[in-house]
Amino acid sequence: MLDFTVEPEYQAKLDWAAEFVRTEVEPLDLLFPHGGDPYDTRNEKSRAILRPLQEQVRAQGLWACHLGPELGGPGYGQVKLALLNEILGRSYWAPTVFGTAAPDTGNAEILAMFGTEEQQTRYLQPLLDGDIVSTFSMTEPQAGADPKEFVCRAWRDGDEWVIDGEKWFSSNARYATFLIVMAVTDPVAPPHARMSMFIVPAETPGIEIKRNVATMDERDALDEGIHAYIRYHQVRVPLDAMLGGPGEGFKVAQARLGGGRVHHAMRSVGKCTRAFDMMAERALSRRTQGTLLAEKQAAQQFIADSWIELQQFRLLVLHTAWIIDTQPHGAARTQIAMCKVMTAKVLHDIIQRAVHLHGSLGTTNELPLAKWWMAAPNLALADGPTEVHRTTIAKQVLKKYQPAPGLFPSEHIPPKLEQARKRYAHIINDADLSGEVNA
Ligand SMILES: Cc1cc2nc3c(=O)[nH]c(=O)nc-3n(C[C@H](O)[C@H](O)[C@H](O)COP(=O)(O)OP(=O)(O)OC[C@H]3O[C@@H](n4cnc5c(N)ncnc54)[C@H](O)[C@@H]3O)c2cc1C
Repeated sequence: MLDFTVEPEYQAKLDWAAEFVRTEVEPLDLLFPHGGDPYDTRNEKSRAILRPLQEQVRAQGLWACHLGPELGGPGYGQVKLALLNEILGRSYWAPTVFGTAAPDTGNAEILAMFGTEEQQTRYLQPLLDGDIVSTFSMTEPQAGADPKEFVCRAWRDGDEWVIDGEKWFSSNARYATFLIVMAVTDPVAPPHARMSMFIVPAETPGIEIKRNVATMDERDALDEGIHAYIRYHQVRVPLDAMLGGPGEGFKVAQARLGGGRVHHAMRSVGKCTRAFDMMAERALSRRTQGTLLAEKQAAQQFIADSWIELQQFRLLVLHTAWIIDTQPHGAARTQIAMCKVMTAKVLHDIIQRAVHLHGSLGTTNELPLAKWWMAAPNLALADGPTEVHRTTIAKQVLKKYQPAPGLFPSEHIPPKLEQARKRYAHIINDADLSGEVNA
């Protein structure tokens, strides 16, 4: 039975979260607007506001809702998380206030899945408590979407691993307490078994942040972004710094990406809804050529297309969440890839229309739209480019199909018509077969 209702108790929590985000959290977006601000644990002023807000979230039982009870979360499951994340997606700071900010969520997941007891005590607990932030250092300057091209090396030297090479776009490294670094440990192994994952404390000698690269929605200065271009100069870590087994780097990376993608999609539903709300308000407020914008057909098409796309996207995300909740691990692979592709497209299209409907004001820094618009391309790249996910979808879907049995497609009409004639030969006579059957 399909059921689209939400339990009243949980709806009450969602209502609380919606009001709390609007009144208490959105002001942080304005006071601390830069990309790295939620991750900057050294900023005493933002932390002075953040801590009491996080306490309120904990008191409501809404802290770290992506986690099960064994890791200190309520374990509501993905459908309920999706409904909450829709609200959190309206604000840049909200995921930090609610303990669900990427990339720490994904890093916490792999520490929980693959970490030793000691690694979990040292890194996982403070991460879950929101006391520290972390970095996932995988992409390289010469290779991103294809990990088989990675060359950053790690080799064993006595009681240590030595990591040497470059990484690109390691988000939040400037604020991180530790980095999870993927490096080639066995260059002659099959591609997916070449790499291993290492936990590297940020203060380890040999880590050089060459630049903190900024995306177009962040600061203008070249070195003031949050995505670190890092050189690991023969960085030495103890043998027990490996996360997972030797050669399991690819497997560990895959384990964190699915959740990250679908959580981005859930939050993007919220951001699209906020952009849509703005578009609707504008259409009902602005007059031109004697009527409201809302009465112009072109504006109506913007509204209708955006609403249809938003509702389709939301249903896809909720359905994906439902599959994750109810079916075995991995069953949602195609749906997660679909969410990933749709996130970037729907977000871009709805924000673009919202900017356009606001005219010149839409392009300014006096509304949040321009910044969101500039961040839209990020979602088509981070966690893998759209094209790669389209390929995944096509490959998975095609597994359910077979090649045509002969030279012509199985839907080829001549042999099917012949079969139809035979099937009903006792009713259809020769006269009918002269062409009238097709008429
Ligand atoms: C905001 C943001 C945050 C990020 N944070 C992190 C992070 O914390 N840690 C980290 O390690 N990385 C991070 N990344 C990097 C991200 O994982 C890479 O950008 C992504 O994997 C793509 O790699 P690339 O940028 O090298 O692009 P490339 O791999 O060079 O791809 C560029 C383009 O080539 C085309 N293309 C690539 N592969 C294929 C294919 N198989 N088929 C068809 N076309 C293809 C696509 O058009 C694609 O957009 C982040 C990226 C962004 C934008």
